[in-house]
Amino acid sequence: MTQTADQQRLEHRDFGRDVLHVIDGEAVPSADGRTFESVDPHTGRVWARVAEGGAEDVRRAVAAARRAFDEGPWPRMSADERGKLMHALADAVHDRREEIAQAETRDMGKPITESRTFDLPRVERNLRFFADWLRMSEAEVFPATKHLTYSRYEPKGVVTAISPWNFPLMLGSWKIAPALAFGNTAILKPAEQSPVTATMLGELAAEVLPPGVLNVVQGFGPDAAGEYLVASPDVDLVTFTGESTTGKAIMANAAPTLKGLSLELGGKSPNIVFADADLDLAVAGTLKGIFKNQGEVCLAGSRLLLERPIYDEFMERLIAGAKALPIGDPLDPATQIGPMVTAEHRDRVVGFLESGTADGAVRLGGGVPSDPALADGFYVEPTIIEGLPADHRCVRDEIFGPALVVSPFDGEAEALERANDTPYGLAAMVWTTNLSRAHRVAASVRAGLVWVNCFFVRDLRTPFGGAKLSGVGREGGVHSRDFFTEAKTVTVELDGM
Ligand code: NDP
Repeated sequence: MTQTADQQRLEHRDFGRDVLHVIDGEAVPSADGRTFESVDPHTGRVWARVAEGGAEDVRRAVAAARRAFDEGPWPRMSADERGKLMHALADAVHDRREEIAQAETRDMGKPITESRTFDLPRVERNLRFFADWLRMSEAEVFPATKHLTYSRYEPKGVVTAISPWNFPLMLGSWKIAPALAFGNTAILKPAEQSPVTATMLGELAAEVLPPGVLNVVQGFGPDAAGEYLVASPDVDLVTFTGESTTGKAIMANAAPTLKGLSLELGGKSPNIVFADADLDLAVAGTLKGIFKNQGEVCLAGSRLLLERPIYDEFMERLIAGAKALPIGDPLDPATQIGPMVTAEHRDRVVGFLESGTADGAVRLGGGVPSDPALADGFYVEPTIIEGLPADHRCVRDEIFGPALVVSPFDGEAEALERANDTPYGLAAMVWTTNLSRAHRVAASVRAGLVWVNCFFVRDLRTPFGGAKLSGVGREGGVHSRDFFTEAKTVTVELDGM
């Protein structure tokens, strides 16, 4: 797409899109006709009217998924047949990728360049990866003299997938792809702040997959569609990505029916830069680590720990880099910092920044931008704060915005102590040219993911998930197989009875 076409699109924002549920292969409104509104975070205006799922919509979606699993062809297909259909779904996403990328950006404010070059390619990759993984997936044989024992990995049944708003379709498809590939049927409930692309995926799936295999129910979480989808006795598994407090509520709600749970939750990840690091690499990685997707990233390196000898130089370069990030209309391909997803979230982030400003030293930003062109949107300035005590809420809590807290350290032991001084354990970044130190620190940080001299690199075969308040369980590669299937052991007598 050329810059000119993008500019034209900026001037012709469409209003009044209707977003439905997709149940049993059909796009349908709510049984009671209720809707809610999705707001464009750049204009502050409503841009979509969305079906609001209630108990009856959940009942219909779960019944459709149940029927498709218990009686339909999907779990009974060969790996080749299912894989082919999943590739067909990926092809359909590919064909509509520009439209979906635009919708993602309108809905939640992520820069269009990220939607185009990161989110949409990952949606496709999630679908294709698990379509292929399934075909190459192995099971074990345990030979013995008198018995032959082997394992089977069978689909679990009906999966509820609940996704957050920061990478709406990327994370939705991260759940849906393995769930479906391993023969389950699913109901996806996206976050109410970013509902549009889930329905787009559901509509494409309705053209390609048997009815009921992928259902989408729109709506809210607590005491609404999300909660009902977790509690339903006809749902076998729940895969959830979102806040740690929501994860606790979901775990409690799933307990009476003893469902399998995978929880990918919040983070407050340390980004540790040693004095021997390649500073060009570390500055670029730090900027990406906190300002990608305007900081609305679970994996964000939101606590920067700088070894004292490089503190001043690093800060100077970091601040210069952050100042150069274009902030503005997320549909503009030049934009790197878009608005916060909602006005409420902007206010929450600003609340953190106010307390950080009061108690520490603000080196950059600290509030909402003064540019009148951004006045209708939910913008927050890229912000860097230093000098906060370790127990300050800006240091301990997930802000989930473009806000970085920085502190110095002296030596590896202090770096590790500070890095691990958090209730979260999702990710860590380490920048050093000392190979032994890189491995030592990687081994000692309590986190599910450690990136050494890089950030956000994802190989879908590897385990993904967090320690402590950042999650329960792992997905990715064989870990997704283990979560989305029921392992069965079959033992055959070889000697006669
Ligand atoms: P939330 O926890 O607020 O919401 C996530 C989803 O859960 C939404 O679809 C929400 O619906 C739904 N939900 C809320 N309450 C319930 C409930 N009681 N029962 C069932 N469903 C419910 O998270 P956000 O959308 O605000 O996402 C941001 C969070 O996600 C951050 O903490 C971030 O760190 C985390 N995250 C973690 C990742 C990881 O891989 N570890 C990756 C990306 C984000 P609704 O919005 O309609 O209420």
